[in-house]
Amino acid sequence: MSRCGRAPPTQRLLVVIFCLKFSFVFAMAQLRYSIPEEGTDDALVGNVAKDLGLDVSGLNARGFRVVSGPAEPLFALTNMGTLRVKRKIDREEVCERVSPCLVNIKIVVENPLEVHYVAVEVLDVNDHSPTFPDNKTRLEISESALPGARFQLQSAHDPDSDTFSVHSYKLSQNEHFRLEVKDRGEDGKIPVLYLHKALDKESAGSHQLLLTALDGGKPPRSGSSQIVIRVLDVNDNMPVFTSESYSAVLKENAPIGTTILRVNATDLDEGLNGEVVYSFGQNVHHKLRKVFDVDANTGEITVKGPIDFEAKDKYEIDIKASDKGTAPLETEKSVKITIVDLNDNTPEIEVTSLSSAIAEDCKPGTTVALISVNDKDSESFGPSTT
Ligand code: CA
Ligand code: CA
Ligand code: CA
Ligand code: CA
Ligand code: CA
Repeated sequence: MSRCGRAPPTQRLLVVIFCLKFSFVFAMAQLRYSIPEEGTDDALVGNVAKDLGLDVSGLNARGFRVVSGPAEPLFALTNMGTLRVKRKIDREEVCERVSPCLVNIKIVVENPLEVHYVAVEVLDVNDHSPTFPDNKTRLEISESALPGARFQLQSAHDPDSDTFSVHSYKLSQNEHFRLEVKDRGEDGKIPVLYLHKALDKESAGSHQLLLTALDGGKPPRSGSSQIVIRVLDVNDNMPVFTSESYSAVLKENAPIGTTILRVNATDLDEGLNGEVVYSFGQNVHHKLRKVFDVDANTGEITVKGPIDFEAKDKYEIDIKASDKGTAPLETEKSVKITIVDLNDNTPEIEVTSLSSAIAEDCKPGTTVALISVNDKDSESFGPSTT
């Protein structure tokens, strides 16, 4: 309307009339058409001349044309007064996130001058599938995570309008995880993984899930992303001895270094949490520690000091297996060692004389002296009665 304000005073009345007519034409000539995106080139948008009530035969002479619109014209007028698509229109390129997607163009026709405004609504077609930023997402979750723990996942993107954009997510069938979706309004929907049932590293060290995003199309289009979950170990297993009981037989006087037996324990945990070391149990007497030794790494029990059947004929030693976790877990098992006797003692004869002289007429059977024989060895190596 500023053009009207600048007119010379003598022409003001005429210009005011023209401006009024212009406004009237503007108000009455607004046309609106709609076309689907991605249509064919040259597709008909609408019969503008007919809809405006213009005489088709005089259009050329009156300079019927589009005077403004998008920088790169999407539409063109024909000699017959129809508006047609000039090139294939991608709604997502023209409007991005604006909805509805309206393209405004101005059409003029001269003698007399008429200005018409046409709005073309580009209707969305579901021509995009939801896509995830990555085909594969890796997560690390401790096996100690409690049910209910939540892990946010990457959202899928779909450039179509709200109706045909991401509407829902689904997760492949599995025992441990469920899916919930946070609705962030304009920022879309965010999938969140939550732990339904506790993990156990020893049962399954990893889990593979498939996250699928579905749009609002009928039928919906979809896109998927793989989720690989590595379960992080926690020291939740104690070492377990592979034998219910351990026993061995050892000859006395066995040389130092002799291997008696080997204990073995295993631990299901990973790394240091599963590495086992052996030692004597808490309450093993210091005297026993001088007689036997246990190898921390191999579990081998060897002779460390003198073994004397006559001093002790059997031993029961507690052996401890511990893992190398930060807070180690341990278990104990007793090892029974039976010592076998050897004939390593000479019999000792002791004579107790009762009288220094014996009468010549003493009767047979009279006790003249007591003789005793002692042997520290067991019965089998004791004094013979013959
Ligand atoms: Ca879509
Ligand atoms: Ca679309
Ligand atoms: Ca573990
Ligand atoms: Ca362990
Ligand atoms: Ca002996």
